[in-house]
Amino acid sequence: MEALRQRLAELAVLLDLGPLAKSAIKASLVYGAFVLALYLFERRAGAADARFRTRSFALDVLYTLFYKGGFYTILVLAAITSALRSELDFLQLNLLQGLPWWLGLAIFWVAGDFVTYWWHRLQHANRFLWAFHSVHHSQEQMTALTAQRRHPIEHLSMDVLLYFGIFHLVLGIPTRGWVPLGVFITCLSAMQHAQVSWRFGPLHRLFVSPSFHAYHHSVEARHANANYAFVFSFWDYLFGTAVSEPEPPARYGVAGLDMREGVTDHLVHPFRLLWRWRRGYQPAPAAARAAGPETPAPLT
Ligand SMILES: [Zn+2]
Ligand SMILES: [Zn+2]
Repeated sequence: MEALRQRLAELAVLLDLGPLAKSAIKASLVYGAFVLALYLFERRAGAADARFRTRSFALDVLYTLFYKGGFYTILVLAAITSALRSELDFLQLNLLQGLPWWLGLAIFWVAGDFVTYWWHRLQHANRFLWAFHSVHHSQEQMTALTAQRRHPIEHLSMDVLLYFGIFHLVLGIPTRGWVPLGVFITCLSAMQHAQVSWRFGPLHRLFVSPSFHAYHHSVEARHANANYAFVFSFWDYLFGTAVSEPEPPARYGVAGLDMREGVTDHLVHPFRLLWRWRRGYQPAPAAARAAGPETPAPLT
């Protein structure tokens, strides 16, 4: 017990928890106000309020509270990254240090988004990663909070590999910069899942709009394996994975996904899927595979 108390105290000093807690409160207020504004835009666009009276929305609220309420960031993520710090010391390259701020920022967004694009493609191509990522795609009635619907293993692996490994260590974004950066990324992601029809006009080939990301969640086979980008849609146009149509997708989700809407079901789902594949589950024919959940894409 004493050892644990000591460890937490060290962690608090390491993370500079006082200012971090204050910034976390401010971040929650900004995020809350942003989600509320998105809701007002959704209402204007005619999105149905019935989405909010569902079990699946209640689960998205739970995900949001878990990931954005402080518990996950301060206790889980901070503990793991501080434990891994010495192991990953060789990655501490701080590539952006010494550059003018505007150049560092531009390189961060372009390089970071390039890595995120390929990581996301890998999540759809590799069946182990897809088993976890499919939880994010399971929502059939999207709201801004669907952005937070992530299996904890997917969330943690992204945070450790991308945010801690690449952004913090390799590129050198200081810990204090995490909060504003996190708020921006969280708001951006919330907007992409909101039920608004924004396409960003001529900029739609440059930036990911809510309408662009909507196709990524479409259940229809012709929209499968498309629109992976997070910030810059040009990655999808460049690598031939962009889909853009005049009409929004008719339905969201993953066809045939055998997962109930419950906390335990969500947590267990990837392991159940992997177990079924291990037991010889046969992939569906190619046409169905595109939209199908139980689609063991080739192992990479
Ligand atoms: Zn995806
Ligand atoms: Zn999404």
